[in-house]
Amino acid sequence: MKLTVIGCLGGFPAEGKATSCFLLESKGFNLLIDCGSGALLALQKVLSPLQLDAALLTHFHADHIADVGVLQHFWQLAPGVKKVPILPIYASNHEPENFNKLDWPASTQKQALDFTKPMQIGPFTISFFKTKHLVETYAVRIKEQGNSNELVYTADTTMVAGLADFITGAKVLLADTNFLADKPEPRWHLTTLETSQLANQAHVQHVILTHLPPFGDANAFKREVVAGLVNETDVEFAREGLICEI
Ligand SMILES: [Zn+2]
Repeated sequence: MKLTVIGCLGGFPAEGKATSCFLLESKGFNLLIDCGSGALLALQKVLSPLQLDAALLTHFHADHIADVGVLQHFWQLAPGVKKVPILPIYASNHEPENFNKLDWPASTQKQALDFTKPMQIGPFTISFFKTKHLVETYAVRIKEQGNSNELVYTADTTMVAGLADFITGAKVLLADTNFLADKPEPRWHLTTLETSQLANQAHVQHVILTHLPPFGDANAFKREVVAGLVNETDVEFAREGLICEI
């Protein structure tokens, strides 16, 4: 499967860069994961949004869903051939006000995620882990048919029991790393050191740092993550256009 970073900032877009959004492709199936602010512009550089097969939202924070509305307008108004007549958008149905907005006439249709068991979306088998965040949020573990390499995207979370076990065995960890190690509590995202600890405990091969703040010294984040690693683990920043073959 091919992961393409569309947007990687946490909080708000800046300097032309979008917030959280990722494209995952397998066997011609295009899954959009989160759809943050600026994501629709960035996505159009890679793929016509009309060529999406499905979208999945980890939680209803603006930096993960801000462009869902314009994605719906795009689907309704943009000329071109649609991959599917109505785009399914998967999300938790536990916040009805937000969930119901995922329906848009002749455009998109809400689909409730079932977090109790792995779910099949196209060629992907997706498992879920409830994270510790300000609103209900789910990390996703994604397995592709016929491929033993798996991807875990933490979505937004602070350190929480069970998260390392959820990640264990995955090859690639896409980790919300929003704070440097000295960030005091309370926190609702991972620090650099916590990302390192998760990578160590789960024995992942490759860590991609995402949800960095749009300000400050990004290199300090990478330095701290690398300093905290005890295994042979590659570390890189998520950045628009980054491709990772998993
Ligand atoms: Zn969030």
